[in-house]
Amino acid sequence: MKTQWAPTKLEGWGRYPRHSAWVARPERMKDVENALSERDGHPVLAYGLGRSYGDAALIKDGRVVLTQRLNRMLDFDPETGWLRVESGVSLKEIIDTFLPRGFFPPVVPGTQFVTVGGALGCNIHGKNHHVDGCWGDHVRRVELLVASGDIVICDREREPELFWATVGGMGMTGVILSLEVKLERVESPGILMESVRVNNLDEFFEVSADSADFTHTVSWVDCVKQGASMGRGIFMRGRHAPADVQTGASPLDALASFAQRILNVRDLESNLWLNKATIKLFNEAYFRKTPAGTTSSSVHYVPFFFPLDAVDNWNYLYGSRGFLQYQMVVPEKDAVREILEVISNSGMASFLAVIKEFGDRDHGGLSFPSRGTTLALDFPNFGTPLLDMMERLDDIVIASGGRVYLGKDARLSKAKFRQMYPEWEKWKAVRDEWDPNYIFQSELGRRLGLVGGAK
Ligand SMILES: Cc1cc2nc3c(=O)[nH]c(=O)nc-3n(C[C@H](O)[C@H](O)[C@H](O)COP(=O)(O)OP(=O)(O)OC[C@H]3O[C@@H](n4cnc5c(N)ncnc54)[C@H](O)[C@@H]3O)c2cc1C
Repeated sequence: MKTQWAPTKLEGWGRYPRHSAWVARPERMKDVENALSERDGHPVLAYGLGRSYGDAALIKDGRVVLTQRLNRMLDFDPETGWLRVESGVSLKEIIDTFLPRGFFPPVVPGTQFVTVGGALGCNIHGKNHHVDGCWGDHVRRVELLVASGDIVICDREREPELFWATVGGMGMTGVILSLEVKLERVESPGILMESVRVNNLDEFFEVSADSADFTHTVSWVDCVKQGASMGRGIFMRGRHAPADVQTGASPLDALASFAQRILNVRDLESNLWLNKATIKLFNEAYFRKTPAGTTSSSVHYVPFFFPLDAVDNWNYLYGSRGFLQYQMVVPEKDAVREILEVISNSGMASFLAVIKEFGDRDHGGLSFPSRGTTLALDFPNFGTPLLDMMERLDDIVIASGGRVYLGKDARLSKAKFRQMYPEWEKWKAVRDEWDPNYIFQSELGRRLGLVGGAK
């Protein structure tokens, strides 16, 4: 059947920017092949569940292949946990199907509404990066539709360069049709967790260093606080619970209920209510709600891993102008301090701010995670003052030898990207070899000088 391309406006999770494109929603892998050959000379890009924040999944006036209906589970080996799935299968679908059988995805981000194709495209990391690395560490084979129209099976032995360029390749090497990922054995849906109130950044680093025995760690950080309390927050650490553990409420439930209450009452067009004063009030209440010291609990995996999934469309909290996330990793602790100082002095504040120390696993190319501390902060789109502040943060990140997460980015400049990702040329050489006419493009790729005009 001929591909039906429908005009639409697409956006990422941050709702900034938005671009018009022509989309098709293939039902079968064969339809994706047809879509590629019926693109009428336009560039093509895969779009999973649109949970990347900026323009990684957008292509202005291009042809976008929506993958959600490519959601078949193809093969599973219960002895080893290896699962072969189509690329539009979401982590939620995997969890719903396999948790009752004692398996869980090896790496999950802060939402379960991402596809496995998107997870590989951004080479996502989770709270267990310091132990288990990224999504790409658990994928052994990819079936990729490349620019020539061929389907290439690539892995660590067959076409390894293409495999690694696709891990974190942000959709620019081709359309992932299916992949094989190894699920992890778990005994229950519960998580044994501890919340530790930390009074400043030094305490965060001390508790983080003390938490090597925990497979999962992350900390909420109060980015408004200055001086001796800068970097205070709630450090959360946990691991999958043994069988028959009863679960209760999670400290992260407070975030979700706050967001839900605001969504229920506020004017969805404006972002003015989300200012430093309101965030300061929320931060104070959230910090005080958690008892001082260490609190142990057993919680269900949903509030632990995906606290905001309980709130539909929480990205609409930020009004019609959308929001931008700034997530970076820096190897030096002093750079974290400098970054928090710039933010707390800026008059702009982030309601959702998390900090975590990554492990050593670094896949090069366009992959984000590398050794150091990552901070992720959401800011309402205040326009130029926000963009100026982010430029200042970029300079600190570059001076420290760090980088910004492309899956969350909407505005990084080409020059600064090149300083943050020194392997970009090597990655591009592999990409260009497989797609010399730049059939696969994205707005992110155009902005960063990674793809040229389509032929
Ligand atoms: C609340 C929230 C929390 C998050 N937490 C984290 C986190 O902790 N860690 C983390 O790493 N990320 C996190 N993210 C980001 C998210 O995990 C990634 O952006 C992920 O890639 C989104 O998957 P998706 O299916 O929505 O992909 P999309 O956003 O649709 O696409 C992302 C990229 O992958 C490409 N892509 C998608 N499908 C395919 C395919 N079939 N073939 C080739 N390329 C493809 C796209 O072209 C695009 O470049 C979070 C996002 C949200 C909204």
